[in-house]
Amino acid sequence: MTHVFHRNPRGKLPVAVAGEGMVLIDHEGKRYIDASGGAAVSCLGHGHPRVVEAIRKQVGQLAYAHTSFFTTEPAEELAAMLAAAAPGSLNHVYFLSGGSEAVEAALKLARQYHVESGQPQRQYFIARRQSYHGNTLGALAIGGNAWRREMFMPLLIEAHHVSPCYAYRERKDGESDAQYVQRLADELEHKILSLGADKVAAFIAETVVGATAGAVPPVADYFRKMRAVCDKYGVLLILDEVMSGMGRTGYLFACEEDGVQPDIVAIAKGLGAGYQPIGAMICSDRIYEAIVQGSGFFQHGHTYIGHATACAAAIAVQNAIREDQLLDNVRQRGEQLRAALRESFSEQAHVGDIRGRGLFVGVELVADRASKAPLDPSLRTHARVKAEAMKRGLLVYPMGGTIDGRRGDHILLAPPFIATRQDIDDIVGRLAEAV
Ligand code: PMP
Repeated sequence: MTHVFHRNPRGKLPVAVAGEGMVLIDHEGKRYIDASGGAAVSCLGHGHPRVVEAIRKQVGQLAYAHTSFFTTEPAEELAAMLAAAAPGSLNHVYFLSGGSEAVEAALKLARQYHVESGQPQRQYFIARRQSYHGNTLGALAIGGNAWRREMFMPLLIEAHHVSPCYAYRERKDGESDAQYVQRLADELEHKILSLGADKVAAFIAETVVGATAGAVPPVADYFRKMRAVCDKYGVLLILDEVMSGMGRTGYLFACEEDGVQPDIVAIAKGLGAGYQPIGAMICSDRIYEAIVQGSGFFQHGHTYIGHATACAAAIAVQNAIREDQLLDNVRQRGEQLRAALRESFSEQAHVGDIRGRGLFVGVELVADRASKAPLDPSLRTHARVKAEAMKRGLLVYPMGGTIDGRRGDHILLAPPFIATRQDIDDIVGRLAEAV
């Protein structure tokens, strides 16, 4: 019997006892190359000396200071770094302890912004059917997976959904990128109008879709068009970069590549790189000023926000990314990874799509490549690939997502940014055997 309440209480897990760079080591000394970065968390691997030292130093200096009494040097320094790097007027960093908290706070800030701007009727959130935004009640309510929400429905806020931008499955035959994007923008506009032109608080989307469908990037101009629709109706744009942000795509903020600035962006995972639990939401000057000029108080908070040790770790992570030019490596190794997967799986009839940005790569498994028919869900192929990969000392993140009732099997690859050319070849070789 175990006293830890595991997410799957009937399952049996190996015990992780140590990590070295890209590798995790279990209680039997078995070594696993971490091609999923946990769940796109671990971007510097394990035992990074500068991060470990920064944590050691900070925790020895100050254990805890509550944000209603004090700010701290690490919190101020990290916020300044993130504000300087974030697009445009995204200048105000509110720290949290993880991704769901960051999304939850973003929803509340959007709502408070409208209330303080004299538009209290703005109460609806629109998200996409293919999305995951977290597991707390607000984040769960807006998420796209109906089966996750089902049991909790009576407790959830009202949320509305539009189609994802998922070209592999949803673009019609003969439809150009521009036509596809226009169709999605029209759908958003109709959704806003059906709810009431001045009733919607925000539209929220993952910049690159993560956990529900294996690293699906938007097609060109998608976010610019969606931003224009939001602006037309005074709807805020919230981007969830909990998975795709902090360098994962080769850019510190994934939306840099899409040429859009959201009103609020949520980040987490890679911010602490697995060394410390930390997340944040960053909002624009306009949102911040409305609160400052209005009530002067954001009605939110948690005990551990802006924890000095977590911030010190995140500063060291940011410094390592810059000093070691890891974003260049993410872009180069990402290209290599996608090319190697395409070559390795060129004859594999069950690999339908290989996509992604940077070291955020998805492999979609299908029953038949030509028809794109999904695999029989009862086969649980994604879970079997994960198990076969683990036997071969490889960690990959599998998903059996559902969208509009259709089941899909995906494998997400999100190795640490320190991956070498050799590591990528090794990952692809083991994955090919497992598949
Ligand atoms: N948003 C996205 C896009 C995520 O991928 C996740 C976690 N998988 C979350 C939010 C929730 O983050 P957390 O698990 O840290 O609460």
